Amino acid sequence: MFDAVQRITLPLPTGPKHVHCYVAEGTLFDTGLGLGEVEWPPVERIAITHMHPDHVGGAAAAAGATGAQVYQGGLDYAQCERVWGSHDWPERIADWFLASGVPPAIAQQLIEQGHAFAPFIRFQHDPALLYEGSELDGWQVVELPGHADGHLGFLRDGVLIAGDHLLGKITPAIGLYPESRPDPLGDYLDSLARTIELAPRIAYPGHGDPIEEPVARARELIAHHRRRLDETEAVLDGEPRNGYDVSLALFGEELGPAQRRFAVAETLSHLERLVREGRAERTGDGAPVSYTGVQLDDDLPPSTSPQGVGA
Ligand SMILES: [Zn+2]
Repeated sequence: MFDAVQRITLPLPTGPKHVHCYVAEGTLFDTGLGLGEVEWPPVERIAITHMHPDHVGGAAAAAGATGAQVYQGGLDYAQCERVWGSHDWPERIADWFLASGVPPAIAQQLIEQGHAFAPFIRFQHDPALLYEGSELDGWQVVELPGHADGHLGFLRDGVLIAGDHLLGKITPAIGLYPESRPDPLGDYLDSLARTIELAPRIAYPGHGDPIEEPVARARELIAHHRRRLDETEAVLDGEPRNGYDVSLALFGEELGPAQRRFAVAETLSHLERLVREGRAERTGDGAPVSYTGVQLDDDLPPSTSPQGVGA
């Protein structure tokens, strides 16, 4: 057994209002948003769970302050460069949302917010890269795609540093984004099944309290998304509906642009999973991309139903 995991909590201006970093035996896991000065303890290495701003945004500053080497997932770093290191990402993501029926005024606000935000995310360039099967000072590196395509977990002696893969009270956002893996919810359900197999005894999440029963929480999250898939399927009828339209039905009409962005991305991840389960069809090669429910013929014997229906 190694020494206790130490938690460092940093403020966030939005959302859960805080993010946790952890230190265990000379390794710092995640670095916060990078707002303000942080008194980092002496560490020999810094490991990043995923490229979202509240985890990677302080990496360059933490590396500068401690002299530690930064480690990040290979796919995660590639996406980090593409999103935070490029000038036209806000336009690319706005185009993508327009193609899902998001009104131009909302897309324009996303572009402006994106350009305002990106310069503050000071990730570490050219980190050492980690992959499934890598080991980092006794920690087993586990790829847990879903919340982010390249999300990593770090497992040692039954302790999982979970990032945002498992959260106690919040449901981690699972969104479909451009230039990303095509079925993030399918990835996430597989990663939750993997978590059940790995059976950690405790998980330390990026937000909220330590998770004392990670396996039970993984099962809850699988059940949650199964319900959400049913609710998403129920919104679809004979008419093609785009992702924005379906998000209005699932999340209501009252969201601001940033919240709408998450709602549309989350809706699209569920729609794409329904397509893969044979429960919906994607229609229209041009914009907007639309989805139609699949009408099952009740007269067919059950063996010919698409896999997953009614399961
Ligand atoms: Zn995240």
